[in-house]
Amino acid sequence: MPSYKAPLRDMKFLLNEVFDYPGHYRTLSTGANATPDIVDAVLNECGRFCEEVLSPLYQTGDEEGCRLEDGEVRTPNGFRDAYQQYASGGWQGLSAPEEFGGQGLPASMGLFKQEMMGTANWSFSMYPGLSLGAMNTLFLHGSDEQQQTYLEPLVEGRWSGTMCLTEPQCGTDLGQVKTRAEPRADGSYQLTGTKIFISSGDHDLTENIIHIVLARLPDAPKGTRGISLFIVPKFLPTPDGGVGERNGVTCGGLEKKMGIKASATCVLNFDHATGYLIGPENQGLECMFTFMNTARIGTAIQGVGPAELSYQWALDYARERRSMRALSGKKEPEQVADALIYHADVRRMLMTQKAIAEGGRAMLYYAARLADHMVDGHMRGDQEAVDKYDDKLGFLTPILKGFLTELGNEAANLGMQVFGGHGYIREHGMEQIVRDTRIATLYEGTTGIQALDLLGRKVLLMTRGGAVREFTLKVANFARKHLTNSQLRPMALELLKLTGQWNWLTVRVMLAARKDRDVVSSAATDFLMYSGYVTMAYIWARQAAVAVAKLDTGGEESEAFYRAKLATAEFYYQRLLPRALGHATTMLAPANTMMQLEAGDMACTR
Ligand SMILES: Cc1cc2nc3c(=O)[nH]c(=O)nc-3n(C[C@H](O)[C@H](O)[C@H](O)COP(=O)(O)OP(=O)(O)OC[C@H]3O[C@@H](n4cnc5c(N)ncnc54)[C@H](O)[C@@H]3O)c2cc1C
Repeated sequence: MPSYKAPLRDMKFLLNEVFDYPGHYRTLSTGANATPDIVDAVLNECGRFCEEVLSPLYQTGDEEGCRLEDGEVRTPNGFRDAYQQYASGGWQGLSAPEEFGGQGLPASMGLFKQEMMGTANWSFSMYPGLSLGAMNTLFLHGSDEQQQTYLEPLVEGRWSGTMCLTEPQCGTDLGQVKTRAEPRADGSYQLTGTKIFISSGDHDLTENIIHIVLARLPDAPKGTRGISLFIVPKFLPTPDGGVGERNGVTCGGLEKKMGIKASATCVLNFDHATGYLIGPENQGLECMFTFMNTARIGTAIQGVGPAELSYQWALDYARERRSMRALSGKKEPEQVADALIYHADVRRMLMTQKAIAEGGRAMLYYAARLADHMVDGHMRGDQEAVDKYDDKLGFLTPILKGFLTELGNEAANLGMQVFGGHGYIREHGMEQIVRDTRIATLYEGTTGIQALDLLGRKVLLMTRGGAVREFTLKVANFARKHLTNSQLRPMALELLKLTGQWNWLTVRVMLAARKDRDVVSSAATDFLMYSGYVTMAYIWARQAAVAVAKLDTGGEESEAFYRAKLATAEFYYQRLLPRALGHATTMLAPANTMMQLEAGDMACTR
């Protein structure tokens, strides 16, 4: 079984040469500590931890899975020790404010850490990942007392967090949530109900687990307007910040699932459990959006991570395994046959994986700068800045989550294909990547729901196309600047064509939706995928532009590295970007071919 190697060269290329993170950090109130030396040291040390501690637990964690013993969940062997190392290394508080025991580094550094951890071992990374969402919810919506009680142990990693939304009857449509919260005389609430599919809902890694729970007050309005948000600790905190009495929340079962088997997915029963309201009554869903947005960007990483891991392993295999001779003539005459890597069809698969992994990573790092500015606005109490960057990030979030996780699945499957039949055999690990990755398009809002959020809410309803106009203007300005460079001109021309087309498609869909409301839903996924391909094209062109410049002047990397960047960008434009045109065509097809059949006439069975 191969192991994970942190792609530090690519990460540093993006940070230092493409997106000027050193300059960016100098503009942030949290950026003073993020000097190039510190950033470098953090990346190197995190890479080492992921390679040496998390990667070796990837396959064993999958084989062993989690167990429910006497109502308590046990994680696979080695997870507790790895978690202790993680917590004692201060990794959980990397981007948390210093007043709560964090290291006060910019939010983006947390994302770089999450990417490496998630690629080395996605199941493991979910435990601290959900805690981050809980921490962010408390930072933004918790009372002073709640922040004092919960944040420090969460930041230190002594306690962990969960996100409890889903119930048996609803995952997407949270307006159907039934869990009840009855007010008590002492100001707390008593929660009763069942949540399912709760990641990290119970485990043996931390001394306490803080559940962030959606529930309904007795006289709450129906639907999403009647949902409130609560903190429900597994153990009630004592006044001195310790762990007290056991609360009425128990794990009723562990889901048996296709992948991420070392991540505990729990049924949680709330039986007169004590809870504390976060934020105003009946505004729980708005407060929960903080958590969901954190989780969505976190889940977008699950598109890039598996693409990277699967690519690393497929590349090694394609260099070693031999099969027949290359069509253009023998490449390894001293060997019995040429290595797989010399066959163009294998290159198609490898280059697709590479373009997805590196293009996806760059999309995430582009967005992480916006997240930094948003957090910075919060810290400075500058609501205008918060709203500005929230809008920009809000437009990109469904694209990152929906598009990158769909492509992550493709890349993982291609990696398995490179291995041929051996990819299907467990010992090589390729089928595990496929199984582990599959969930990414499902949780934190399915691809279809991300697509509706993008097209229905953010593009049509909230901005009437303005979000697309704003983003494409930026892309077009970039493209115009590079029209005169012979190596970049084809990409720049293509980008100019696509930015025009993206706006035109938005107007066409908007007009069609006025006549037939089903069009928003029938066009949404194609619109999201189209948006993803064009956004990735922009991000690949930015990498190519830096590579061309550095080939001329010299940079931090080798000439071969920059040539590889340029070649991958050209591959993306020629081989992957044309898919956008298919999505452009299908999104304009009327909804009636989908909707004309009566629901009762869909089946051919008796
Ligand atoms: C391993 C795992 C871990 C999870 N972790 C958590 C967790 O930590 N916390 C938590 O609360 N939940 C968690 N979930 C739940 C997950 O977020 C939900 O399963 C997901 O949001 C989808 O909800 P659902 O399963 O109820 O599907 P449904 O909502 O029933 O959707 C079914 C299908 O219908 C589509 N659909 C639904 N409504 C519409 C619509 N209006 N228009 C168009 N299409 C629609 C969906 O896109 C989907 O394809 C987890 C799930 C799994 C499997």
